[in-house]
Amino acid sequence: MKFAIVSRGDERSNKITAKMKQYLIDFDLTYNEESPDLVISIGGDGTFLEAFRRYVDKLETTAFLGVHTGHLGFYTDWTSEEIEKLVIEIAKTPFHVVEYPLLEVIIRFEGEEKPHRILALNETTIKTVEGSVVFDVQIRGEHFETFRGDGLCISTPSGSTAYNKALGGAILHPSLEAIQVAEIASINNRVFRTIGSPLILPKHHTILLKPLQKNSFIIAIDHLTESYSNVRSIQCRVAKERVRFVRYRPFPFWNRVRDSFVTEIKKFD
Ligand code: NAP
Ligand code: MN
Repeated sequence: MKFAIVSRGDERSNKITAKMKQYLIDFDLTYNEESPDLVISIGGDGTFLEAFRRYVDKLETTAFLGVHTGHLGFYTDWTSEEIEKLVIEIAKTPFHVVEYPLLEVIIRFEGEEKPHRILALNETTIKTVEGSVVFDVQIRGEHFETFRGDGLCISTPSGSTAYNKALGGAILHPSLEAIQVAEIASINNRVFRTIGSPLILPKHHTILLKPLQKNSFIIAIDHLTESYSNVRSIQCRVAKERVRFVRYRPFPFWNRVRDSFVTEIKKFD
């Protein structure tokens, strides 16, 4: 089996990375950053998002695993104290894979420029540098509303515990093949009206945002933010691709939610 490791880059994560790499090589696994079967992220959820981004074009052949070197994360279920145990699992046990849905974002432009198609593990947010965004929002090809406000956040089920949660969105179990649309400070008064509550769209239902005033936007995909001009439309739906997580032991999603948001902080070291 071929593996690669993505570290957060701090001293602690780098130390654990070096240790784990050596252990796995000692167990006859091959370090290969080009086409790994297994990608191990060492750091936080942010590191995991970076690992996902690096291998987003190889999702079919790559499975991911996260080790956290800070607090418990949503994509990182192994602690740095469990490295030896984890290495033995990787070397000796065939892994079980769990798949989660992803979000497909297609940005289309005025003129000749080719559309950008991007996959998100957590979410996309669409904002502007100045003033508010004004979109014609279509769902399944039908006009739904005219949105005015700071922006919109469209998230995956596994991303629903991130930015989406801060916007008052629901937490979705990742076995649900859906995306969630949450408003970021919509303007609601006698003139402008939006739905005001988060929407959950099933597979095959597309949301299309058509800019009505400006066409320059700040579009974030997970931890990466870019500015785009001449935007004609932004389309979002559940992607046909899925992300594969390696599981050597069960860690139910709701336990993760509880341990991250409800239970008092557990000390790992
Ligand atoms: P960051 O600013 O370090 O991330 C913010 C926090 O979100 C961190 O604590 C991060 O965990 C956590 N996080 C990431 N993915 C998560 C998930 N699926 N469920 C629950 N928490 C999650 O930046 P980052 O580490 O590069 O992460 C980028 C993400 O930050 C974006 O995808 C977005 O979801 C989130 N974000 C949130 C807000 C907000 O809540 N107001 C605003 C902007 C961005 P770690 O500390 O383990 O990395
Ligand atoms: Mn982070």
